[in-house]
Amino acid sequence: MSDAVSLSLRQCARTFADGHTALYPLDLNINAGETLVLLGPSGCGKTTTLRIISGLETTDHGGEVWFDDRNVTALPIEKRNVGMVFQNYALFPNMNVAENVGYGLKIAGLSPAARQTRIDEMLDMVDLHHLASRSITALSGGQKQRVSLARALAARPKVLLFDEPLAALDAKLRDRLRQDIGVLLKKLAITAVYVTHDQQEAMALGDRIAVMEQGRLVQIGTPREIYQQPKSRFVAHFVGAINCIEQDSQGQPVRFCRPEDIVLMSPRPDSRHGKIISMTFLGASQRLVIDIGLEKPLHVECSARATWLPGQRVGWTLADERILQFHALTRQENDFAE
Ligand code: ATP
Repeated sequence: MSDAVSLSLRQCARTFADGHTALYPLDLNINAGETLVLLGPSGCGKTTTLRIISGLETTDHGGEVWFDDRNVTALPIEKRNVGMVFQNYALFPNMNVAENVGYGLKIAGLSPAARQTRIDEMLDMVDLHHLASRSITALSGGQKQRVSLARALAARPKVLLFDEPLAALDAKLRDRLRQDIGVLLKKLAITAVYVTHDQQEAMALGDRIAVMEQGRLVQIGTPREIYQQPKSRFVAHFVGAINCIEQDSQGQPVRFCRPEDIVLMSPRPDSRHGKIISMTFLGASQRLVIDIGLEKPLHVECSARATWLPGQRVGWTLADERILQFHALTRQENDFAE
């Protein structure tokens, strides 16, 4: 879609009437056609940011929201041309599938024929044509979410906003719909902002991920950058597992690594050493917990082909470039125990 817009938040912030600051001044640029995922723990300000983009929430004085070169800060949601998909679907239970998808089009004044064409197109897109006349109350969670997606897209929005759309679905359905949403976002090349606290969802869908912590943006980058070069222990821990492999003289962890970057072998003079505490076979891989003489044991994820047994002594190595070191400590750091 060549008419995708870029988004720009300039010093957007939100302190509520009770004095609680949900968002500290935030500058954020989202490219036209990009999917940006806002990722972070509950309460970090993701939804507030999304609502400021949509116009459902206002930014504190001084903040600005721009769509391309248009300052939309003062515009309400209905004038911003955004589509929204929520966790709780927000569908009309007294209407059938097609009526839900076409609702906004009726309000926008499209003729019945133009409406029908658009509804057909949208239902094809989300693979729901066969359910067009079914009542919303007779749909599964996954089907409901497809209807909300179709409804959000029907008005041809310039920006698509998702607030935890898959959180209420079971794991299998979530995977399937996540893939479908990913394919659709690529195909439409629409600018999208996607809120989640699920790191796998974030990595699978985001062109870039913005990680938030307590009302602040703490890192923004491609999924690969965020996972492989996290700037802080908080980010490293939030998007995957980390091990401490070295402590300083006060026992503070100083060097870390990902469980899958460890290479196991029979003990060698040039390897580091440990003793296997437990092994969990997972089919495609196995997880080992290894005592390496530090406060916390090492967690290793490796191929399930090699046989390692609890009690066994092992050697392990780690390429220098896989070692993670953090300089900036962030606020929630101590809440995350490896
Ligand atoms: P979640 O994943 O749980 O939805 P979130 O990262 O989306 O969390 P927000 O919904 O943006 O977080 O909320 C950020 C903080 O602001 C939270 O502590 C929340 O309780 C608070 N908050 C949100 N809305 C209001 C409000 N209207 N008045 C006061 N505080 C609010």
